[in-house]
Amino acid sequence: MFTTLWIIATIAIFVGLMYYRSSLLVTSLALVGLFAVGNLLGIVGPVLWTVLAVVLLPLNITAFRRGVLSKSILSVYRNIMPEISDTERDAIDAGTTWWEGDLFRGAPNWKKLHSIQKSELTAEEQAFLDGPVEEVCKMLDDWEATHELADMPEHVWQYLKDHKFFAMIIKKEYGGLEFSAYAQSRVLQKLAGVSTILASTVGVPNSLGPGELLQHYGTKAQKDYYLPRLAVGDEIPCFALTSPEAGSDAGSIPDSGVVCKGMWEGQEIVGIKLNFNKRYITLAPVATVIGLAFKLYDPEQLLGDKAELGITAALIPRDTKGLEIGRRHFPLNVPFQNGPLRGQDVFVPLDYIIGGKEMAGKGWRMLVECLSVGRAITLPSNSAGGVKSIALATGAYAYIRRQFKLPIGKMEGVEEPLARLAGDAYLMDAVTRFSTKAIDLGEKPSVISAIAKYHMTEKLRARMDDAMDIHGGKGICLGPNNYLGRGYQGVPVAITVEGANILTRNLMIYGQGAIRCHPYVLEEMLASADHTAAGLARFDKALFGHIGFAMSNFVRSMVLGFGGWHFSSTPFGDSTAKYYKQMNRFSANLALLSDVAMGVLGGSLKRKQRISARLGDMLSYLYLASATLKRFDEEGRQKDDLPLVHWALQDTLHKLQESQLALLDNFGGIGKALKVVMYPFGRIASRPSDKLDHKVAKLLLKPNASRERLGAGQFLSPEGAFGYLETTLRDIIKAEELFDRVRKAANQRMSFIFLDKVAAKGKELGVLNDEEVALLIRAEEGRLRTINVDDFAHEDLMAGKAARDYALANKPKKPKAAADAA
Ligand SMILES: Cc1cc2nc3c(=O)[nH]c(=O)nc-3n(C[C@H](O)[C@H](O)[C@H](O)COP(=O)(O)OP(=O)(O)OC[C@H]3O[C@@H](n4cnc5c(N)ncnc54)[C@H](O)[C@@H]3O)c2cc1C
Repeated sequence: MFTTLWIIATIAIFVGLMYYRSSLLVTSLALVGLFAVGNLLGIVGPVLWTVLAVVLLPLNITAFRRGVLSKSILSVYRNIMPEISDTERDAIDAGTTWWEGDLFRGAPNWKKLHSIQKSELTAEEQAFLDGPVEEVCKMLDDWEATHELADMPEHVWQYLKDHKFFAMIIKKEYGGLEFSAYAQSRVLQKLAGVSTILASTVGVPNSLGPGELLQHYGTKAQKDYYLPRLAVGDEIPCFALTSPEAGSDAGSIPDSGVVCKGMWEGQEIVGIKLNFNKRYITLAPVATVIGLAFKLYDPEQLLGDKAELGITAALIPRDTKGLEIGRRHFPLNVPFQNGPLRGQDVFVPLDYIIGGKEMAGKGWRMLVECLSVGRAITLPSNSAGGVKSIALATGAYAYIRRQFKLPIGKMEGVEEPLARLAGDAYLMDAVTRFSTKAIDLGEKPSVISAIAKYHMTEKLRARMDDAMDIHGGKGICLGPNNYLGRGYQGVPVAITVEGANILTRNLMIYGQGAIRCHPYVLEEMLASADHTAAGLARFDKALFGHIGFAMSNFVRSMVLGFGGWHFSSTPFGDSTAKYYKQMNRFSANLALLSDVAMGVLGGSLKRKQRISARLGDMLSYLYLASATLKRFDEEGRQKDDLPLVHWALQDTLHKLQESQLALLDNFGGIGKALKVVMYPFGRIASRPSDKLDHKVAKLLLKPNASRERLGAGQFLSPEGAFGYLETTLRDIIKAEELFDRVRKAANQRMSFIFLDKVAAKGKELGVLNDEEVALLIRAEEGRLRTINVDDFAHEDLMAGKAARDYALANKPKKPKAAADAA
């Protein structure tokens, strides 16, 4: 009896110590204590004491552990693990970790999540959104820009320059706006709801480019010259990294700069001879200053003793001799300025290098550092803004458009994509708020920025498809009256730029996440490269910390998996509690799976992209879910928003679970064994039910407080397409009641069309006053504009040579007298 109790108590205490991650010393002392009790009870004898001593002594005698155990493991480790390359080291050093680190480490502290302060706009930022941003949204005619001009009209460009749209990141001391990342995100969201050209043109100079690079690394002279000019739009920047031979593998650019002597402004100086061929460069055709990335060589060793200095970034003015610039690419009918640029033997002085010659060879580090910030703002915000606007527009359209005598949004089949639009609009806004908060707190969140870039742009793609499906032909026929088509066409741009998505998901999220977020892996890697005694000591500490961490994650996964998750920590006792509890379990599973994958696959995990991608999915979904819970709390836990919160959480955690199961199913015998530990009773997260889809879809169909919060900050003035839809939706809802009144008075069957005729009938029957008649007529106008599409004369659709030939052939003939005079 005592023996059984002692065994149960010993196991329970050991499991508890592991679960709560107690140190080696505390665990060892607790075990000795338990054995002493066992000894008193006559259960533990010399054999068990010997076993305990054999296990504990080598671990606790530091000199032995380090000199024998760690030393031999270190030599095996060095053989298996490839040395970390300079490029990888730069990428790792360039970022910091934040909340995603807690999620990765298996035991998230929810109090910490909810103690992060909410982002707020300053009065100046709000005024900018309400003033210049609202104004430029009214100014731009997207059809004119995309179809007729293949550019924004000159007055819009000028307005953007005059109001410092390109200077949101530039500090006030240089004349810029110096907005928070959160404010930038709100600006981009609003612009993206109007036009992809507008959002891309404003987004790029405020993301990775000369402005950002100069502020961080420029010399005083460079900052003093360029930043004030960039702030007022006297200079338009672009950044040229990509070349035909090097896209995703940007580190392998063949573009070169050779340090040599040459003539510059009549004098011989040491400078750089550049040869480059770049493509896809946003703003290049109109740029006045080009940030250029190239590999710097110094064969004559004029700068020092290194012949190859590495990737370097320089600023090249447009009028530099030999620079070939101005032609355009045509990105998927969203013709923002983008094009190639080339240069052959272009000679420039050394002080064109950003940061001067001290920064020669440091370009890669500069780029990845800046990218880890910009990538979390521009594309995620553009995507969130796009989805927020189309969610509202699609809801309104689905109510206004009727088939089979019903608003199409009330049909179950349409509810499914509508629910996805609403749920993701809520989640995407939450993610951009949360990620920009990290930046405003001073983080360089390289893992978060990869997560946000990938998931927000993928959601944009999927939700665009949903919006198109619901709009049917209305979304397909292009013209001034189509508010979806260009956004839909432009989606692959967001997918491809700033780290193409397949690469981002398969390599970057987890590749960086594992090394940056894991509490011991990076330290082990760095320590293994240090061949001194101090290196061994560091390795020993990291290794045994790692072993304890892995054991703890195994125990946590098992305890939580076998039912413990129901009792695990949650900061709130309401209906969101179950999500925190599920996430406690998934987070522990991720930590364990990470260690198992790294332990089993070692360096080859990099090549096992399907595994790496799924581990990255787990981390990503935990991050998206946290951001959603955070938003709900920050907005005062609005009861009305609960359907959206439930939908977003259920969809996200279900996807997490499926990625995890796919990983386990593709991980051989180990996967099968771990599945028993992690899913002893099967799946725990289910996808949103049809009932929940119905509730969420309904929120989009008619005005209400939740719907307003979903579209908050978007351009909804009646002058814009989406604002007009909102006004029409309200009119149609009011018109329904009037329609019913007329139908009853007329005592006849009527369809909800020709509302102007219904108005006339109502007036004739004396059941509508003048105001109501006017409302029905306005509702009909709005309804027709909503459902109708554009048509064109054949020649209006011609472009290029065909259009020029047509214009020539159909030129009005000169009157005979004028022709004779000529
Ligand atoms: C409209 C537009 C604007 C752009 N603006 C700029 C700019 O301003 N400045 C600039 O320098 N560049 C710019 N780019 C370039 C952009 O960053 C690159 O297009 C991008 O890096 C991908 O390169 P790629 O198109 O050559 O595709 P590739 O590198 O050929 O990739 C093709 C596919 O293979 C996948 N892939 C590649 N390597 C791996 C891997 N190791 N593992 C898994 N999958 C992989 C990619 O994910 C992608 O799906 C722009 C591109 C476009 C289209």
